[in-house]
Amino acid sequence: MDSPSSSSVIIIGAGISGIAAAKVLAENGVEDILILEASDRIGGRIQKERFGGVSVELGAGWIAGVGGAESNPIWKLAAESGLRTFFSDYSNARYNIYDRRGKIFPSGIVADSYKKAVDSAIQTLRESNKNNNNGDSDSKALTPMELAIDFMLHDFEMAEVEPISTYLDFGEREFMVADERGYDYLLYKMAEEFLLTSEGRILDTRLKLNKVVRELQHSRNGVTVKTEDGCVYKANYVILSVSIGVLQSDLLSFNPPLPRWKMEVIEKCDVMVYTKIFLKFPYKFWQCGPGKEFFIYAHDRRGYYTFWQHMENAYPGSNILVVTLTNEESKRVEAQSDKETLREAMVVLRDMFGPNIPEAIDILVPRWWNNRFQRGSYSNYPIIPNLEDFHNIKAPVGHIFFTGEHTSERYNGYVHGGYLSGIDTSKALLEEMRKEKERKSENQTLLLEPLLALTGSLPLSHPDTVSNIHKCDIPKQLYLRDQLGIPEAKL
Ligand SMILES: Cc1cc2nc3c(=O)[nH]c(=O)nc-3n(C[C@H](O)[C@H](O)[C@H](O)COP(=O)(O)OP(=O)(O)OC[C@H]3O[C@@H](n4cnc5c(N)ncnc54)[C@H](O)[C@@H]3O)c2cc1C
Repeated sequence: MDSPSSSSVIIIGAGISGIAAAKVLAENGVEDILILEASDRIGGRIQKERFGGVSVELGAGWIAGVGGAESNPIWKLAAESGLRTFFSDYSNARYNIYDRRGKIFPSGIVADSYKKAVDSAIQTLRESNKNNNNGDSDSKALTPMELAIDFMLHDFEMAEVEPISTYLDFGEREFMVADERGYDYLLYKMAEEFLLTSEGRILDTRLKLNKVVRELQHSRNGVTVKTEDGCVYKANYVILSVSIGVLQSDLLSFNPPLPRWKMEVIEKCDVMVYTKIFLKFPYKFWQCGPGKEFFIYAHDRRGYYTFWQHMENAYPGSNILVVTLTNEESKRVEAQSDKETLREAMVVLRDMFGPNIPEAIDILVPRWWNNRFQRGSYSNYPIIPNLEDFHNIKAPVGHIFFTGEHTSERYNGYVHGGYLSGIDTSKALLEEMRKEKERKSENQTLLLEPLLALTGSLPLSHPDTVSNIHKCDIPKQLYLRDQLGIPEAKL
């Protein structure tokens, strides 16, 4: 057992925010850090897996927000690492909407419905701004095509009717990562700069995998962290990068408990579940070529196997289809067997492409909701941003600093949100550490003044002792204080 050990800062979680935070600390001279990660890998919600002979991304797949005046920091990292990406254009998806008999809706009718859906969403947003509610639209009876468009607008494109900071700041283009090394290669490249690595493996003992943190005992003297395997670690500060879903769960306990203002904002934040289901086929039966990468299935149940993508642009010849489910549909599918999910998906595909298509030979269903280290895919704030909530979600509680995509005011939900939040949190912590140091040296002076006054009137047999006092650290002064009867200073 490797406990107890003591560090300046413990970082809990080795997703992009945790790794970015650790790197900033190391670059600023705080090298006695410890990263505790619950799973057996770094990356968190950036996770690749071998499927159907290629590397697929179960979590984040796109670099969203490219081509604008300002450069997306993740796009920069991807360029530096030579990550293979390609431009993704969902705008054509709306012209590939299939009904349940396999007929594609005429583009004129779809364009009309799409415009109406956007106008109605804007209207709802305006009204919600006026009435100060959260922008939920009244449930109206929608046709399967309208339901499909609604799903595409709100669940897949993340409600593009509002000005999303990511697209405003970094541009409207999105690039999909299709690299055998995976999206998480960016994290390894970052880690290489401050952790000991060899041939793509992190060997540094400051990163500990399979360490599930269960308890944080905190006071103004520091934080004691206890893990599921019975280890205990101590640090002056903790950076906590677990997802909002984990904060809402009972995986972590805080002693003393988190204050009410913190708990309230944690509870307030919605968690979105987003599931990409991968299906491998013996051969292609779908259309490829320009404008055909994405296609939609219109069903009378909203979000029922609605949004499809083929992976021929990413990996030609891979014969893989991906279908995206969200929220209640994601949870439903997570709870059933993969065999049942495969059966449902095949019925949908046969509706669209006819009865003679081949059976899928493999299926991969990620379970972000049931993963106790994630409990969802990303944070989703109410439409009307509340500045106090943003402040409270990232505000530290004593020596515990919070980071992660959910703490990013402008870019929550995205990889770049996680990355930038990690940097911001470490900068805030460095500032706090600097102030703490200043406070300590002020206290030191406060302690020394009466001491010097006293020693000035004492017959000193060893004059050197006085000048040595300046070199003393606080515990030694406290020791001297007791000996000389100096009044206690508040530390
Ligand atoms: C399916 C899906 C699709 C997505 N698509 C995109 C996309 O296309 N583009 C985009 O920009 N973003 C996308 N995202 C969002 C993006 O992946 C996240 O915003 C980002 O990766 C979050 O990083 P993070 O560091 O904040 O959190 P995480 O990556 O979740 O890191 C937190 C870490 O903490 C660890 N942890 C949790 N509990 C404990 C514990 N008790 N003890 C120790 N460690 C613990 C976790 O294992 C994890 O490694 C997607 C996410 C998902 C799930």
